[in-house]
Order: sequence, then C-alpha cells, then structure tokens
Amino acid sequence: MRTIQYQGRPGAVPVGNIFCLGRNYAEHAREMQAEAPDTPIVFLKPSTAVIRSGSAIVIPAISREMHHEVELVVAIGREGKHIPRSSAYEHVSGYGVGLDMTLRDLQSRAKKEGLPWSVAKGFDTSAPVSDIVPAERIGDPHAQTIRCSVNGRERQRSSTGLMISRIDRIIEYISSIFTLEAGDLIFTGTPEGVGPVQAGDLVEAELLGFAKISHTVENE
Ligand code: MG
Repeated sequence: MRTIQYQGRPGAVPVGNIFCLGRNYAEHAREMQAEAPDTPIVFLKPSTAVIRSGSAIVIPAISREMHHEVELVVAIGREGKHIPRSSAYEHVSGYGVGLDMTLRDLQSRAKKEGLPWSVAKGFDTSAPVSDIVPAERIGDPHAQTIRCSVNGRERQRSSTGLMISRIDRIIEYISSIFTLEAGDLIFTGTPEGVGPVQAGDLVEAELLGFAKISHTVENE
C-alpha cells in the first residue's frame, strides 16, 4: 500500500483515491491548444502511481514521450459527499507538491481517438508527491509558488493564485460525484511550461518554502 507522510508528524497515511484536474491554468490550456473549461476536468490515477522523493520515475516501454507537470497537491483529511464550497477547507488536512507525469504521445493518441487517459496518466511512478505540509502551516493555498526544474534549469514556475477552478470549487465539484475520504489526494492542475524528460534527467519540484521532491528518470 502506498503511503504519504505529514511533515512533523509520526506515522504514514495510506493513499486513497487520486483525483487530478486537467487544464486548470489558462496559459497551460493555451500551450495545449485547448479551451479553458468552465466545469473542472477530472481524471484519476491509481494509488500505486505514487512515489516519494528519491525514487526513480520510470518511462514505460510503451511510450517515447514523457512530460513533467508540476502541481499543488491537496490532501484530504476528512470524509465528505456534497461538500459545499463554504466548508470545503474543513476537509483539507494539508498541501504538498506533486508531479503529474504524463505519457504525452499516448495521451495525444487517446484524445484523438476518444479513448481514456488511464494508461497515459496512471502508470507506475506517474505520481511523485512530497511530504504533506499541515494546512495550518500553509495559510492561503492560493498565495503559494510551485516550480519544476530539470537538470537544475527551471521549466515551470507559477503562482497557485492562477488556478481557474479554486480549491473550494474543486472540492465542491469532485464531492458532488465521488465520496472524498481521508488519504485521498487532489492534483490541482499544472501551469504552463510542461515539457519532455528523458532517462538520466534529474527532475525537481517545489512548493516554495515548504516542500521539495527530487527524482531521476529511467527507462523501463
Ligand atoms: Mg496535470
């Protein structure tokens, strides 16, 4: 079972469902030549996709094009269904930084053929995630900076204030369809600057001032 760890707290928490937002930053929608959505776009990754800092990201043999997508990750601490926006933050236990690693060649083909994204987004090692920072230490989650670098060169840097659907709206929307449970993670979408990685690269992602992860990339 995959687990997450809270900074400054003993014990590990099992990872539940992993919900991910697509196209939640306008500039990223633009670089993908897609419309920014009115309703959140949600897809899932299996919990087996999670790796912790220091583990390798492995490019599956079925793909030739893997992209990094740095994202703010919301950790759910309390179960709920039909959670109103006004009480959404009562269900958040903390925040971290994650990478929504994506097999872009397979995702592009899936989009064209109207097929699911599960393989392109849910393969083993597709969800590197940092230790979770308790919510009370973060303050405003939309006043943070996330960044990603490859081999020491910055590729993505954004304020989390630029999300199209904010965290309270995301929780309201997801919980109108799925029960949210303690241990669930929400990847809140990536800003612009996504790009390829290859075997031998060092990928680092950061929630500035709070959490950092570091991963080498390998071929299967
Ligand atoms: Mg993403």
